[in-house]
Amino acid sequence: MPPAVPPQGRGDSRPATPPASAVPVSTLRGVGPAVAARLEQLHIHNLAELLFHLPLRYQDRTRIYPIGSLRPGNEVVIEGEVEQAEIRFGRRRMLLVRVADGSGSMLLRFFHFSANQKATLSAGTRLRCFGEVRRGPHALEMVHPEFRRLEAHTPAPVDSHLTPIYPATEGLQQPSLRRLLEQALTLLENGQISLDEYLPATLLPPGMMPLREAVLLLHRPPPDISLADLTEGEHPAQQRLAFEELLAHQLSLRQLRETLQRHPAPPLRGDGHLQQALLGALPFQLTSAQQRVHATIAADLAQSLPMQRLVQGDVGSGKTVVAALAALQAVEAGHQAAVMAPTELLAEQHYQNFRHWLEPQGITVAWLSGRQRAKQRRETLAAIGSGEARVAVGTHALFQDEVAFAHLGLVIVDEQHRFGVHQRLALREKGVTGGAHPHQLIMTATPIPRTLAMTAYADLDLSIIDELPPGRTPVETVAISGQRREEVIARVARACEQGRQAYWVCTLIEESEALQCQAAEATCEQLQQMLPQLNIGLVHGRMKPAEKEAAMAAFKEGRLHLLVATTVIEVGVDVPNASLMIIENAERLGLAQLHQLRGRVGRGSVRSSCVLMYQPPLGKQAGRRIAVMRDTDDGFRIAEEDMAIRGFGELLGTRQTGLLQLRVADLQRHQALLERVSDIAPGLLQNHPEYVEPLITRWLGHKTRYGAV
Ligand code: ADP
Ligand code: MG
Repeated sequence: MPPAVPPQGRGDSRPATPPASAVPVSTLRGVGPAVAARLEQLHIHNLAELLFHLPLRYQDRTRIYPIGSLRPGNEVVIEGEVEQAEIRFGRRRMLLVRVADGSGSMLLRFFHFSANQKATLSAGTRLRCFGEVRRGPHALEMVHPEFRRLEAHTPAPVDSHLTPIYPATEGLQQPSLRRLLEQALTLLENGQISLDEYLPATLLPPGMMPLREAVLLLHRPPPDISLADLTEGEHPAQQRLAFEELLAHQLSLRQLRETLQRHPAPPLRGDGHLQQALLGALPFQLTSAQQRVHATIAADLAQSLPMQRLVQGDVGSGKTVVAALAALQAVEAGHQAAVMAPTELLAEQHYQNFRHWLEPQGITVAWLSGRQRAKQRRETLAAIGSGEARVAVGTHALFQDEVAFAHLGLVIVDEQHRFGVHQRLALREKGVTGGAHPHQLIMTATPIPRTLAMTAYADLDLSIIDELPPGRTPVETVAISGQRREEVIARVARACEQGRQAYWVCTLIEESEALQCQAAEATCEQLQQMLPQLNIGLVHGRMKPAEKEAAMAAFKEGRLHLLVATTVIEVGVDVPNASLMIIENAERLGLAQLHQLRGRVGRGSVRSSCVLMYQPPLGKQAGRRIAVMRDTDDGFRIAEEDMAIRGFGELLGTRQTGLLQLRVADLQRHQALLERVSDIAPGLLQNHPEYVEPLITRWLGHKTRYGAV
């Protein structure tokens, strides 16, 4: 492997090859102002950015497949003679063309075609087609394949390498992108431009492909390469780039952390009297895990470096009280604390808890939600602005522009897994008052495997509450077919008659909240008819906050036996006396969601149970999820299983939140690389700071830089 080339200048006397990043795309043939503007849309300005515009996937046009060997799903080139072509008039007019090659025959189906095309596709013509093979009503077919006419008996050449498919944009389609890349690749091959290697050979894991080779290969994969490896991201060229990309993200997050630590936070040093009072008033002792995490947080808060700590703790591990102790430390030190939750319901519950714990000590707790009346809102804003409210609890509404804290010292965010890094930063930004940056405490019930956390949360310190309060009995979980719904209803009736309380959770496939709510309403009515002796309440996302609150309060106080709910109760709802949960259509939910839901029971000392009702037949994955739920209630094990079934991306909610938007790397497939990345990042920052910026620019250049906030 050649030694690493430093980004500026080379050591030897050869004439300097310009780095690709210094050559504008406008130097390429065919790039005028219009094309340049379209390239700009793809964030491509120079040849390095063009070369790092990597294929999304590949097509194999390097060989011609016998029609007889095709399977549905193949995307292939075929060659054959048109046997028959006819226009069919049905609900839609279409052109059907039968082609045969001696090994078999198939149909080409066209819904749009010109007279010219129709003429080309007449019997006896030899064609070469490329398209995806599908199973048609009578035979295998291709719908709107690419095709061209071949001269009889003259062999036409096939492509010499796999065809890359690039992310394209309006007005700049595959052929133009390929022409531009061909030019850049030729320059690179001929040594007329260079791609800077930023990773010193000493830091690269052994056996990694050199950068230049990896880039050339991914744009022009030779025909003998395994398309399966490429598709799975397992080719060494992809590994090489994935490694660099993951490293760039990690460096950016670490840099962000350093940047943030340059801003002082108010050191929150209380005398402990409020914390002691709360601990004395609690009906329980902190577990040793809670004590440990509380002590770590207390030490962090006393520093003038802003705390950035993520606390992971399984459902029911008692994160809320740890958060309340942190808030009290801020209050003792004369500062305010803000507590934010992702849903209205959960925020309301935190509000109740904090009031219950803090108001007896004379501390005003404010409540801010997006749904408040104007007058009430004005009053709350005034109390927050004057500093009269020492603690403010709410949803995202807490961080709107008009909310100004008098002296915010600590921001607590619950159930962080729903927010990506950009949201996290936006929150932090909001908290800046008069140059002082508040401390930040993030709590999540979604355990994240360590290597992943080190990458996706490289800007945060980690603590784990790895112990449940004593006296919890594991929840007994059973799976029952929906055909035995009556039995389940009878079981609910029996439990409630024995003084237990139960949840009945309704789910729907559709993501539509409206439909979910309707389903819950219908179920509630039906259950009430069948169980007239029970008091049944309803909670769903479309109810007025006051109604919802009333239902929750009634349930919490034991005035309702049964609470019918949508999955809004998934996060954080805490009613210790509830010991039975029915989840309808459990097969539709993911493991993380099932675990969160089930965590609503088993919070008291009564033996709790959870009934997973499913619609048979159970699919393979759904069956596996339900089996995992029956086997364990260990959140970390469930998270690992979840990852094995679904992959990291979904686990972290990547899609919704844009947490780590990756181009080549895949957090799950490249898990093994994550550890290496965490190993070398500190050394690179220490010993080669000159490579850090260029690496980050290469991979995150056009995105909002983490460090820029
Ligand atoms: P989560 O970590 O899921 O947010 P909570 O903070 O809601 O958990 O706590 C779950 C329940 O356990 C609450 O009723 C809480 O009051 C109770 N709890 C918390 N810590 C302890 C403890 N050390 N001993 C007993 N119960 C506790
Ligand atoms: Mg909680």
